[in-house]
Amino acid sequence: MSRVYLTGAGPGDIELLTMKAHRVITQADVVIYDRLANPEILDMAKNGCKFVYVGKEDGKHTLPQDEINEVIYQNALKYEVVVRLKGGDPFVFGRGGEEGAYLHKHGIKYDIIPGITSAISVPAYAGIPVTHRGIAVSFHVVTAHESPNKKESQIPWENFKTDDTIIFLMGLRNLPKISTKLMEIGKPNDYPCAVISRGTTKEQKVIVGTLENIVEKTKGIPSPALIVVGKVVSLREQLKWFEQ
Ligand code: SAH
Repeated sequence: MSRVYLTGAGPGDIELLTMKAHRVITQADVVIYDRLANPEILDMAKNGCKFVYVGKEDGKHTLPQDEINEVIYQNALKYEVVVRLKGGDPFVFGRGGEEGAYLHKHGIKYDIIPGITSAISVPAYAGIPVTHRGIAVSFHVVTAHESPNKKESQIPWENFKTDDTIIFLMGLRNLPKISTKLMEIGKPNDYPCAVISRGTTKEQKVIVGTLENIVEKTKGIPSPALIVVGKVVSLREQLKWFEQ
């Protein structure tokens, strides 16, 4: 009886993989993986394990999601241990829910193995705590993949008037719109924000700025990158442990 493991690969640093993820990867007959999953993880697989790349580049999809669902299903018909490896956590903008529902519909058993999401770990490696006593009592994790100016925008801009932390994933391309929109809802032009590229890896780059100058300062920064907006960004001065 085959089993699929919808598995979080963590944000990049290979040691941020969970022990459970490590176990199923070593047992896998096939690993179906994304662009964001650190490829070094594949070295953990046993000899003869098959690898299937279904990665997505920023914006363009190598395979549409319904085809990925079908690839997972077809592999589950053929192999006993199927690992679907995804960057970060499978349920944080990872479409793991759609994959699980598809398997359920076809009667395939599966486990979810949560991963450390980039949303909190990438700021942590930049020395930015997403909450901090007296500064931020909550944090929002937002997909900025859509255009914030589109009529159908689902981003709840009005919720961002407090000083709580906002973490935008998939937002690099929309950074000009994000910063403009936040100033429009009343945040000061010099409000702190940071862009972190390739977080938790040796290529990690952190750019700190303000809503007004962050677009200019981050021109050409490589993806994947996330955006942190909030007063917690200033704590980095004391907390940037990873770069030191
Ligand atoms: N499921 C993933 C998120 C998928 S969306 C998770 O839980 O982390 C992909 C977005 O995640 C990217 O566009 C980027 O904004 C962010 N991201 C993922 N890994 C990152 C990294 N190492 N550094 C910076 N941002 C990262």
